[in-house]
Amino acid sequence: MESLEVRLVSRPLGLPSPSNFELATVSLGQPGPGEVLVRNRWMSVDPYMRGRMTDRRSYVPPFALGAALEGGAVGEVLASADPAFAPGDLVLSMWGWREAFVKPAATVRKVSVPAGVGEEALLGVLGMPGLTAWAGLREIGQPGSGETLFVSGGAGAVGSVVAQLGKALGCRVVATAGTDAKCAWLAAAGVDAAINYRTCGSLLEAVRRAAPGGIDIYFDNVGGEHLEVALELANPFARFVECGMIAHYNATEPPPGPRNLIQVIGKSLRIQGFVVTQFQHLEPRFQAEVSALIREGRLRYEETIVEGIGRAVEAFLGLFSGANTGKMLVRL
Ligand code: NDP
Repeated sequence: MESLEVRLVSRPLGLPSPSNFELATVSLGQPGPGEVLVRNRWMSVDPYMRGRMTDRRSYVPPFALGAALEGGAVGEVLASADPAFAPGDLVLSMWGWREAFVKPAATVRKVSVPAGVGEEALLGVLGMPGLTAWAGLREIGQPGSGETLFVSGGAGAVGSVVAQLGKALGCRVVATAGTDAKCAWLAAAGVDAAINYRTCGSLLEAVRRAAPGGIDIYFDNVGGEHLEVALELANPFARFVECGMIAHYNATEPPPGPRNLIQVIGKSLRIQGFVVTQFQHLEPRFQAEVSALIREGRLRYEETIVEGIGRAVEAFLGLFSGANTGKMLVRL
């Protein structure tokens, strides 16, 4: 069978453009011993992929030029030459950015869909972004009831889960997002204050008004000005969960600041970064807890779905202009 795949053909400088990518057709044979043939039904686009487009040492190796990109995908086994898999099995893999693939069975994982969600949720609220939110907030943020949680990127895949988990754990939650519609979504989901950071004027004053008692936990998805505001408004012993800094991912020069990092001393702040894979062992607990919250109607999730591999690059680029509410996904 034939499969379309998206390849990286040049390394972006600054914001990527469609010309950094190409769509190519490959022919797939039947699986050899120990291999499976899988047709992807959903693929994920994630901000971290921007980092892999740059040739530098990091916690994951850079994407190779001329080769298909990689990323989370949910697909169906069409043919298997491995006894552990059969046609019809639903599998999760890192072989996204392609319609289908033949790969060693050891590189895919059989999954089932928890009640109350669609299979694509395994790439979002019940997948990597959900685990990022749950583990980052619980393990690093260590929220206590009555504390104030500030989360940037609040209407995204990670942030929307952080914000609602914070409410479920008894926090007062202040979130930022880039449109009024996203803020309305956050308000409907129970967040105490949702701030449109693009139109609010001084972000510092807007967050100060929304969190008059200061901030006890800052869940950072954005970096930049948001981080400076959080440092300024942090209470003594506040915890900073450094999850992401999307405001910097397309920077062509090292960004300045945070200019007020000195606050970390006098306020005895704890600033801790993490990569979700270090919490992989918590996945069963996370899935049980978050799927229960979804079933009980205490956690909503949104998905922005783009159709077809031909629009996967557009979906990815949309992450940097805020085109998504909740998880950005491509249906294949
Ligand atoms: P999102 O669903 O939040 O999508 C990205 C969003 O970021 C956009 O919708 C946009 O929303 C916002 N954004 C884009 N550019 C800017 C900017 N310059 N300033 C402020 N906001 C911006 O993505 P994810 O939920 O998948 O990821 C959120 C963050 O978490 C990212 O930084 C990501 O890298 C990080 N992450 C970290 C992991 C880890 O292991 N540490 C794992 C997974 C994600 P808006 O309209 O509000 O601007």
